[in-house]
Amino acid sequence: MEEEKRKGLRVVLFPLPLQGCINPMLQLANILHSRGFSITVIHTRFNAPRASSHPLFTFLQIQDGLSDAEIRDAPTSNVMSLLAQINLSAESPFLDCLNKVLLESKDSSEKVSCLIDDCGWLFTQTVSESLKLPRMVLCTFKATFFNAYPTLPLIRAKGYIPLPDSEAEDSVPEFPPLQKRDLSKIFGEFGEKLDPFLLVVVETTMNSSGIIYMSCEELEKDSLTLSNEIFRVPIFAIGPFHSYFSAASSSLFTQDETCIPWLDSQEDKSVIYVSLGSVVNITETEFLEIACGLSNSKQPFLWVIRPGLVLGAKWIEPLSEGLVRSLEEKGKIVKWAPQQEVLAHRAVGGFLTHNGWNSTLESICEGVPMICLPGGWDQMLNSRFVSDIWKVGVHLEGRIEKKEIEKAVRMLMVESEGEKIRERMKVLKDEVERSVKHGGSSFRSIETLSNYLLSL
Ligand code: UDP
Repeated sequence: MEEEKRKGLRVVLFPLPLQGCINPMLQLANILHSRGFSITVIHTRFNAPRASSHPLFTFLQIQDGLSDAEIRDAPTSNVMSLLAQINLSAESPFLDCLNKVLLESKDSSEKVSCLIDDCGWLFTQTVSESLKLPRMVLCTFKATFFNAYPTLPLIRAKGYIPLPDSEAEDSVPEFPPLQKRDLSKIFGEFGEKLDPFLLVVVETTMNSSGIIYMSCEELEKDSLTLSNEIFRVPIFAIGPFHSYFSAASSSLFTQDETCIPWLDSQEDKSVIYVSLGSVVNITETEFLEIACGLSNSKQPFLWVIRPGLVLGAKWIEPLSEGLVRSLEEKGKIVKWAPQQEVLAHRAVGGFLTHNGWNSTLESICEGVPMICLPGGWDQMLNSRFVSDIWKVGVHLEGRIEKKEIEKAVRMLMVESEGEKIRERMKVLKDEVERSVKHGGSSFRSIETLSNYLLSL
């Protein structure tokens, strides 16, 4: 009966144009579609999702104000600046597009239930209010991080930065389990420029009809309760649904499938998978340190080197021929991997990651312990949970040095300490897996969300 009612309802989704935001939005689209809703995805020209991979959804592209040259240079540009620019330019095209969808629905039997968009859009609450359409927020971070949005300006103003070495490992009293040394990478070059952005996000979220998290009670029950108290809107934690709806179909880059036969030729749990996601950049010196660390570890590795990852380089040119030869003896380098399939492969025993929330969840879902090398923002917090709270990984503490990398890889992959981490990861994986199974916390939350969308 409820399923029948949902059949006459359409939900409009609007992801932020980043791989780490598109993946969870399209997973949500799949979840809602499987519950009977029709789906329209409005998207920017920049990082447009591949419509052909989702024939059951309607895709509508809007102008984002970026020039062809800006789009071409995006892999090596500052992504935060691009997003700020799009946030300024896309409001009016978005309003026109959404208005058109609503007008069309007036003439059809199918009604639009609500807009669901990323918490990083600054204008969507105003637009949806002007069109009298309820709006829900998809938060692609861990709830603990989003909960800190209202307090981040206060923490910044407290002046923990610059920090004396003696206090580096102290916890941030307003934001456990973060350590004071993590703060400089959260505020980065933006500093106080972040405050107005955070304020708008908090305000518009509080005016929204609810928050959806790709997370679950098993990972952060208290944070989810707190989120409800802070933002005073309904909260739905519906993840991680990776095993049901893979992120692979929403990949913006071509995935190098030769990884899989290469992994097939490796021993069980012997390979360390290395990827720093779609946005993080490293310097040439850091790149060479990682290369030497992996080579010296003597452990097989699969390394994703995204074009644009290394600042000032197109791809792997900073590696000498000799180093490439020695890397190829034990490892494989690709530009982009089918990450979920890789993590699920029996040969993969560890993940050297930047701890983006998607990568962290995917690793937990596949029970792969991590080496944490966060690059900034929420990654600083995710990595603390991985290493200090759940204890399912080792933290490099920002030391991108060959000896440290070699030591961490060997510790995780061959030493007894690594075995203990692996056992803890197995327990966490099983708990999280239960949440999405029939009757589990996320499973129930999806049901509640579906009924809530019906009621809007
Ligand atoms: N990913 C992938 N292939 C790669 C590296 C990453 O498919 O070689 C996917 C990964 O599975 C994840 C997303 O890209 O779903 C990255 O999101 P995350 O939140 O981890 O990091 P971000 O890229 O946003 O920093």
